[in-house]
Amino acid sequence: MTKEFNTASLPKATLHEHIEGTVTPEMAAKLAQRHHITLPDNFVMAEGQYDKNDFPNGRYAYDESDFWAFINTYDNVADMMRTPQDYYDVTKDYLSKNAAEGGVYAELILSPAHMAVEVNPETGKSELSAPRYRAMMEAITKAADEVKEETGLETRFIATGVRNLGAENVKQVAEFIRDNPHPLVTGFGIAGNERAGKFDDFAEALSIAKSAGLKLALHAGEICGPESIKDAVRLGAARIGHGVSAPQDPAVMKELAEKNIMVEVCPTSNRILVTDLKGDLANHPARQLYDAGIRISLNPDDAGIFGTHTGKEHRISAEKFGFTKAEMLDITLCAVENSFADVKTRKQVKENIYKKMTADDRREMKDLADNAKNPYLKKRLETRVAESEKTAKKLEIQKRRAKTMKTMKASRFALLAQKSAGRS
Ligand SMILES: [Zn+2]
Repeated sequence: MTKEFNTASLPKATLHEHIEGTVTPEMAAKLAQRHHITLPDNFVMAEGQYDKNDFPNGRYAYDESDFWAFINTYDNVADMMRTPQDYYDVTKDYLSKNAAEGGVYAELILSPAHMAVEVNPETGKSELSAPRYRAMMEAITKAADEVKEETGLETRFIATGVRNLGAENVKQVAEFIRDNPHPLVTGFGIAGNERAGKFDDFAEALSIAKSAGLKLALHAGEICGPESIKDAVRLGAARIGHGVSAPQDPAVMKELAEKNIMVEVCPTSNRILVTDLKGDLANHPARQLYDAGIRISLNPDDAGIFGTHTGKEHRISAEKFGFTKAEMLDITLCAVENSFADVKTRKQVKENIYKKMTADDRREMKDLADNAKNPYLKKRLETRVAESEKTAKKLEIQKRRAKTMKTMKASRFALLAQKSAGRS
């Protein structure tokens, strides 16, 4: 039985979001004004042409059935992100909104080939610049630190290579990230046109990133078939971006579940860009992946450009895939466990989620574990039950101790009052 629940109150973790893709139409207008850029006609929809409740920060006007119209909009927006101030504003805007809708953890994907490239005055060539990268990272980190201070939201970053720029370019990006380490850049990814080259072309770049201590999140199985997921896993992916084609190969499904490799599900993005889904999330395999014991997370991918956000993706997932509250809590806990934060941070964020669970939530989690058929899923849910009960007990003891302290304090005051009354 599925109980009605409001996804708005759920804690949420986002693992797949490109920083340039977060730019809302409102933010795009601000950047255009700052850089004196005239945006193309019909770039965004006029008020009244769309539902403001569904698109509170405006809506881009591109035709969702036209892939190149989407790419054009993305490129136009990315081109306006030029200065550290731009990166600060965009990061602050996105992370603040994420925290306001229950975000407890977020990872953002950065592309050094975009944000850290400038013309070298000596050679006249465009190249990766360490000073430019440092200035951008300083601005981005400032925004993340401020949002953490204000809301508690933890943020990490994934540096990504763009596969359609070629294997040599991706290798240079990996070397650049290795040579310019940053404490909040904890992962390396490969994004861009999935049909450009094979994963093996990027093996060297991936091994450079791995040896620099970065974990791998690779886009695969979005446009290409399950063999692309198999290749990504073979080369060390801890997470797969999209992975929509995984169910086409049962061996891939089993491997993902067995090795705890997460599939980063992006419902709205997949509905718009994955032609196999025919524009209908009824054809999306999110439920199938989850029931097969595969860890999934729910993500916007390009929140601003797709006119979505983490909260909306959770609402859509509950509606379209029928995820219950306990399943959604499990999904968020999976995202935190498979995040690229350090062990201590992951533990703390998880503990905070368990603290928010009510006795009803714990009962629902237990029912879910008892009825789970897949062995990987069952085992994981049983751990959730044990962990949530442990946290609840800890909270109970803390509460009792605080009550005893209060009573002791009160009786001491009473005693002191009595004594001083006796003296007078
Ligand atoms: Zn992506």
